[in-house]
Amino acid sequence: MGNLLRSRLGILIGGLVLLALYWFSNQQEVPFTGRKQFNTMSIEDSVRLGAQSYSQILQQESGDVLCSRAARSCDANARELVRTVNEIGLRLQNAAVELEQDLLAQGYNFAPVADQFDWTYNVINSDTPNAFCLPGGYVAVYTGILDITGNYDGQVDMRDIDDVDKLAVVMGHEIGHALAHHGAERMSQQQVVQMGQLAVGLGMGDMSASQRQAVMQAFGMAAQGGILAFSREHETEADKIGLDLLVRACFDPREAPDLWERMGEQGSGQRPPEWMSTHPASETRAENFRRWMPDAISEYNRRCGGSIRLEN
Ligand SMILES: [Zn+2]
Repeated sequence: MGNLLRSRLGILIGGLVLLALYWFSNQQEVPFTGRKQFNTMSIEDSVRLGAQSYSQILQQESGDVLCSRAARSCDANARELVRTVNEIGLRLQNAAVELEQDLLAQGYNFAPVADQFDWTYNVINSDTPNAFCLPGGYVAVYTGILDITGNYDGQVDMRDIDDVDKLAVVMGHEIGHALAHHGAERMSQQQVVQMGQLAVGLGMGDMSASQRQAVMQAFGMAAQGGILAFSREHETEADKIGLDLLVRACFDPREAPDLWERMGEQGSGQRPPEWMSTHPASETRAENFRRWMPDAISEYNRRCGGSIRLEN
């Protein structure tokens, strides 16, 4: 009995030590912010997954993908929306290529992806206020977000794209997630949680069913808490990369905090799924932008020949 316990404990400890080794030997630097991330997925695999989910989503939405082959609508307004989203996207993706090249020139060691991505933009006719960029540069903007990024008068119409800087904020943020491989990082983390569950499960063989359940529950909550903390960090990182892209693409960086303030005003039912549970507390976000803004503004003025100031 004692031997069995010892050997089970041995398996548990051995498993957790291996996991820790696995964790620490798969750390890579996110060049944009200097943060270390745990990532076991190759760029090729994550781009392949991105392409797969993108085509699945487009297939599900089929008739609502504006001006696609299956589209129900491709009138002048739809064409204008698609053109606008593509234009913003092109400016941001060029900024992304430039940003990665600058970082490489500064001596960061990483594989650039922006010039490899298969950049694709689609507009989906839907009330859901949402937008995403999957690994590989597969971008979708849902029309439901256009009023929040537009004139914010409570309805989606063509006047919402008179001024596109806030839409660029959202797209830049989403592209930031893809550039920093946040999707691959999350999947890698989930895989480690599953392996940890296995190790813990093997280690508590002699416990009663209720004890097992309690241990598993505690383990699950700790893992969930950890992943949530990382996803808040992802949001902050995407905000920062997005701001860099905005400035490089000559969109007004001061629109970023305004946009996120509006996003925070949305009821949870209206809020895009991504922002429901993982968005940083709005004070933290506002504080970050206050810290970043002076540099962003002087960089904008230098690059874009502007003369904007901190106050709008
Ligand atoms: Zn985000």
